[in-house]
Amino acid sequence: MNSSLNTAPRPSIVRMILRGLFRRCAWCGGKGAFFNSWFKKNDYCNTCGMSWKRNLQGFELGAATMGVFITFGAILAWMVIGGLAGFSVVLLLSGAAMLAITLPIFGYPITYTVWFGVDLAMHAPEAADLEQANAHLLGLSSK
Ligand SMILES: [Zn+2]
Repeated sequence: MNSSLNTAPRPSIVRMILRGLFRRCAWCGGKGAFFNSWFKKNDYCNTCGMSWKRNLQGFELGAATMGVFITFGAILAWMVIGGLAGFSVVLLLSGAAMLAITLPIFGYPITYTVWFGVDLAMHAPEAADLEQANAHLLGLSSK
């Protein structure tokens, strides 16, 4: 038995990344994706049952790299804009320190959900992944 979420055509990469930016599942758009709280995540999407692991290695490295790009990009933008605006060095460095501390905390789940979209675009789910998602959903529903 297949759920309609798993037999639907694959969303475009733009749609999957946009869903990830709003902390939704890139595959089904389910709210919260595989997160139960800001820092606690399941192995499976709470809505469609798709696993973010999918037996692929290096997923968490991709999510961490996404976090580094977002943080360093924001710091670089802050330094360039602040430098052009004539901010003092103390203000530039304290702003950069604030970004370096807060962005990884507030962006943690978003790096996962965005990278999940990139991962799904690079490695389309196979039949075994969809069967695993369905089995997970059926297991959840029998509890
Ligand atoms: Zn989902």
